[in-house]
Amino acid sequence: MKYALVTGGSRGIGRAVSLKLAAMGYCVVINYASNHEEALKTLEAIQAAGGQGELLPFDVANTEQCVSVLEAWQEQHPDDYIEVLVNNAGIRRDNLMVFMEPEDFFKVMNINLMSFYNVTRPLLTKMLRKKYGRIINMASLSGLKGLPGQTNYSAAKGGLIAATKALAQEIAAKRVTVNAVAPGFIKTDMVEGLDEKALSAQIPAKRFGEPEEIAALVGFLASPEAGYINGEVISINGGLYT
Ligand code: NAP
Repeated sequence: MKYALVTGGSRGIGRAVSLKLAAMGYCVVINYASNHEEALKTLEAIQAAGGQGELLPFDVANTEQCVSVLEAWQEQHPDDYIEVLVNNAGIRRDNLMVFMEPEDFFKVMNINLMSFYNVTRPLLTKMLRKKYGRIINMASLSGLKGLPGQTNYSAAKGGLIAATKALAQEIAAKRVTVNAVAPGFIKTDMVEGLDEKALSAQIPAKRFGEPEEIAALVGFLASPEAGYINGEVISINGGLYT
């Protein structure tokens, strides 16, 4: 069995990515923070489509917990390894910098950026030893362009993009690729409360994207065919960022 881990797989983009990877033949390890009910829905959707998956809740911001949970997973699967990792879990806590509380700045940094180290590091050795792996990081338009009201989120996603490029160069020779996807506005819980009509008017495609459109790109980057794409950041935003 081939395994893929999707952090934040309980909802939104992570759910669509989990379904896509399961359709590609992966047993998908669905990570989430606390929303067991939604995570179960992802798993049931995978199973209903004839695929396989398992649930693995842990806090991607907690370094020790990531190590202990992922080591325990490996012990329970001694003959397998996670060959596709999608670092997707994320939150936003928007505010103008002058009003931003330390908790909102550091929480966003920890869940969106420090998680990259926390989750990737424990899985990397196996990928390198097996000489095959795919790491896909969920960045954002905000990390490329910088968006007002998102100094925390832009910093985290910008850092994730830089880390993607650095790690890609470290490990490319081992046939492990590291790429980032930078979505614009995608219809998930994360954009609830935003004025979709007003924002859509500014998007050349005149609409928000669907999670499945992001999943299609992640699926390609996760495939063997994408083996020569490395250290890239691919925008998927309806033409918003040029
Ligand atoms: P979402 O619908 O709000 O889902 C967020 C997911 O992250 C949930 O599965 C959640 O788990 C998980 N999560 C949050 N904190 C976590 C933690 N500490 N440990 C483990 N899992 C955690 O968000 P989304 O829109 O699908 O976003 C997915 C990714 O795409 C994020 O990195 C986001 O920054 C990025 N992105 C989204 C958009 C957009 O427009 N939607 C645009 C650009 C980039 P629970 O269900 O347990 O809470």
